[in-house]
Amino acid sequence: MATSRTGTTRYKHNSTKALRQAQRNGLTNCPCQAHCRHHKGRRCNIPLDYENRRRPNGATTDHITAWANGGTDDTNNLAVICFTCNTSQGDKRPKKREQVTTIDFTT
Ligand SMILES: [Zn+2]
Ligand SMILES: [Zn+2]
Repeated sequence: MATSRTGTTRYKHNSTKALRQAQRNGLTNCPCQAHCRHHKGRRCNIPLDYENRRRPNGATTDHITAWANGGTDDTNNLAVICFTCNTSQGDKRPKKREQVTTIDFTT
């Protein structure tokens, strides 16, 4: 068994399939909520762009149950969410977002 988590032919195939399914089902807005940092508990709801997937609102797929937790690449384990949500979930480390260290020079 291949142990590669990403970039498998199967994943790509199912990912495309899941995207097509979502589009056919009329999923027009990002259904992601709660588990994303950037919109804390609120529904993302950004209009999904199925044509330009690299855009912040591009339609991408993400594992519902993570690979590490025994999730599969089956289409029923793939959720369609926007690119921004996908990247913010995948990254466990805190992003460099506004980590402004306030230094007080007024001594
Ligand atoms: Zn989203
Ligand atoms: Zn999200």
